[in-house]
Parts: sequence; C-alpha cells; structure tokens
Amino acid sequence: MTRNAHDEAQELIALGEGLSDAQQTWLRAHLDNCEACGRYAEAANRVVRALRSLPLAADSRLVRATQMRVRIRARDLRQRRERLLLVASSCALVAISSALTTPLVWQGFEWLGRWSQLPNPVWQVGFVLFWVAPTIAAGVLFLAHGTYLSGSNDASEG
Ligand SMILES: [Zn+2]
Repeated sequence: MTRNAHDEAQELIALGEGLSDAQQTWLRAHLDNCEACGRYAEAANRVVRALRSLPLAADSRLVRATQMRVRIRARDLRQRRERLLLVASSCALVAISSALTTPLVWQGFEWLGRWSQLPNPVWQVGFVLFWVAPTIAAGVLFLAHGTYLSGSNDASEG
C-alpha cells in the first residue's frame, strides 16, 4: 500500500457523503486492510456525529430553558394581575359603598346635629371624620398587607 492510497482514503473519508459507488467500494476495501485509516474514519465519524448532535442538544436545552422562563414569567404576570384585580375590586367596592352610604350618613348626622342642637360645623366635622375613617383603615390594611407580601423575612423580628 502506497502513501498515496492512505492520502486518498483520508480525503474520501473527509468528503463523507457523496462518494461514488466505486469510491465507496475502494474506501471500504482500504479500511478493511488499513488500521490507521480505519481509526481516522472512526474519528471523523465521531466528529461528524458530534457536530450534528451538538447544536441540536443545545437548541433543545435552550428551548426548554426558554419555555420554563416564559412559563414562570406568565405565572408572575397572572399573580400580579390577580393581586391588582383584588386591590382594584376592593377599591371599587369601597367607592361604591361610600357613594351609596354617604348621603344616608350625611342625613343621619344632620338629623343628629339638629336633634342635639349642635352648630352645623360640629356635626359636619364629625361626618367627615366618620366618612374618612374607613378609607384610612382600608389604606392601613392595604399597606400592612403589601408589607407582609413583599417582606416575609421581616416576620421573625416582629
Ligand atoms: Zn490507509
């Protein structure tokens, strides 16, 4: 076997696919008899396989990681939306209930003021305090709730 035969064999191996039938037959015959070119062919095959499988594996890992990140982000957004909805509906409830009860409470205070013969500013101030108190209480509650949600590691200090 000449030096040229090995060179030719390794060239054909490097070409990989697209060999003619005659070339494949010749190469197989050479590889059967030549250990060095056989090892070269094996190494070349390993490299080709690795090159083929590597981007695929990286892609699927990347896809999985991206999918997980998207899922976590979606869950975060949903939780934030639910929390916002809760706060918004609570605010709406407070606004509606105060809109409904304010005239009644005003009339009640007016009646009380007249009944006890208090000057108008006195029962009016009392009405404002009465009307504002639930809003302040709700605000304090929301603030406490928000602090509880954001900083659970402060619980041990309390
Ligand atoms: Zn050879």
